[in-house]
Parts: sequence; C-alpha cells; structure tokens
Amino acid sequence: MRVEQLGDGEPEVAIVGSVHGDEPCGARAVQRLLDADLDVLEPVKLVVANERALEANVRYLDADLNRSFGEDVPEDAHEVELAHRLADEIRGCTVLSLHSTQSHADPFAITAGFDGSISDIVPRLPVVATVDTQGFGEGRLFASDADIIEAEAGLQGTETAAENAFRLAREFLTAVGALPGSAVEREIPVFEMGESIPKPPADEYEVFVENFERVERGETFAAADGHELVADDPFYPVLLSPYGYAGQFGYRGQHRGTVGQSSDGANSTSVNSLSSAQ
Ligand SMILES: [Zn+2]
Repeated sequence: MRVEQLGDGEPEVAIVGSVHGDEPCGARAVQRLLDADLDVLEPVKLVVANERALEANVRYLDADLNRSFGEDVPEDAHEVELAHRLADEIRGCTVLSLHSTQSHADPFAITAGFDGSISDIVPRLPVVATVDTQGFGEGRLFASDADIIEAEAGLQGTETAAENAFRLAREFLTAVGALPGSAVEREIPVFEMGESIPKPPADEYEVFVENFERVERGETFAAADGHELVADDPFYPVLLSPYGYAGQFGYRGQHRGTVGQSSDGANSTSVNSLSSAQ
C-alpha cells in the first residue's frame, strides 16, 4: 500500500485509488495529484490501496478488498491485512475512493447514506447519479470509521476513466475546502442500490438495458445463454453489466429522489425529501 501526503499536518481528507487492482484510474489520479504540485489549503492523504493487485492487473490477490472490512474473509488473505491498514490510515477522514466499472461510462457516486458532509459533497462532484448502498455496505470500505464517498469514474481501463478520476479528485478537494475555489452544486438523482441480481450458470451473458433508466414490469433486461431474464417488477438497474461481476449482473435499484440543488434554484428538493420521492 502506498501512502503519500499533500501539505503539512494531520490530514482529515483522503483520496484512495485502486482498491481494485484492475482499476488503474485511481492510482493514476493519485500520481497526477502528486505531480501537479498543488497548493493545498489543508493536508490531504493519498493512498494507492492494492499495489500488488495493480501490478498484476487483477481485481485482487486473495479476496475482494472492498469485501474484506468484515469478518467473512480469512485472516491470512493479503487483502485482510490491507483492509486493516487502510482503515487505520483513513480513520476519522472524509474520503473519496476512486473506482471504475464495466457497467456505465458516466461517473457516478456510491455512498452508505448521507451522514455528515456527504450530502454537501456529492452534489459538488461531476457525477450523473448517486447510489445509496444502505444495508448493502457490509464488509466494504463503508464499514470503516470514516465518511466515505466512492466514485465510479468510467469504464475500466479507459483513458476517459483516468481523466474522470483526476477531475473527480480535484472537485472533491475543492468541495471539502482543501483546494481554493467554489465547486458548482447540482441536483443529483439518488438510487437505492437494492438487491443483487444473481447470474444463472452460463457461458454467455447479455444485458439489454441502461443503468439508472427504469425497467418496466415484463421487460427483458438480460439473458444467460440466450435464456431471457424478465422483470417481475419495475426497477432501476445499478452497476448492471454482463461480465462486471462473477456471480451477479448487478443490482435491482430504486429511484429515491435527489440530493443537492442546481445553482439556479429551479429545483430545491434535497436529501430531506428522499423518503417521499417515487
Ligand atoms: Zn472497484
């Protein structure tokens, strides 16, 4: 694990890259932040989490690091040691953890609720949506003692994801006051992550719908070896892709309102209205 710092003092802000080794965009953003010679207003911790997996260009060596913050993973897994060290490094911090995905090209955020400053920061990030994991954050980085925002910067391994990751990092640092300037606030749709959509065993998988766009009851949303999967009830696909996860297509999300407010004030809904949204 690589740990660096911008500025002097004890950081209360951190950026974490490459929790997953096959997502180089975060490590590249960290390197660019170091190379940029930024004049930070507060100290910032920078972490490249899974260097060994990054070097091997694999998601993980022994266990998914973003599932290793709980009790379910054997103690001798490389990632369990990393999880302990990472939790120590970011304790008490406001954290942006940079990821990339096979599901959706436009950047989006993932949170576990909207406590603390999270509802202020998310609308100031260049994201098209935010996903609330709610009860599905177990074993993830969210379990650590810190305010965590994860960002999916774009499609895994692309230059665009690397560019987006750097931009997300810059705007996050502006939003938390570690860089000068004011971050533009926008209104961001909120989706509840929902239940996992398991994959039946098959050789070939297909997905026919767009993430964050409503799937109607009776709509065919995916297939496994040509066998169609049809929606029993409407949902909003979250992190849905044919091959992004081994055992699941993604999640059966629901739309839960918005967070933030566009700067023209046209829509003033906020995180407070989440429970009453459709
Ligand atoms: Zn990831």
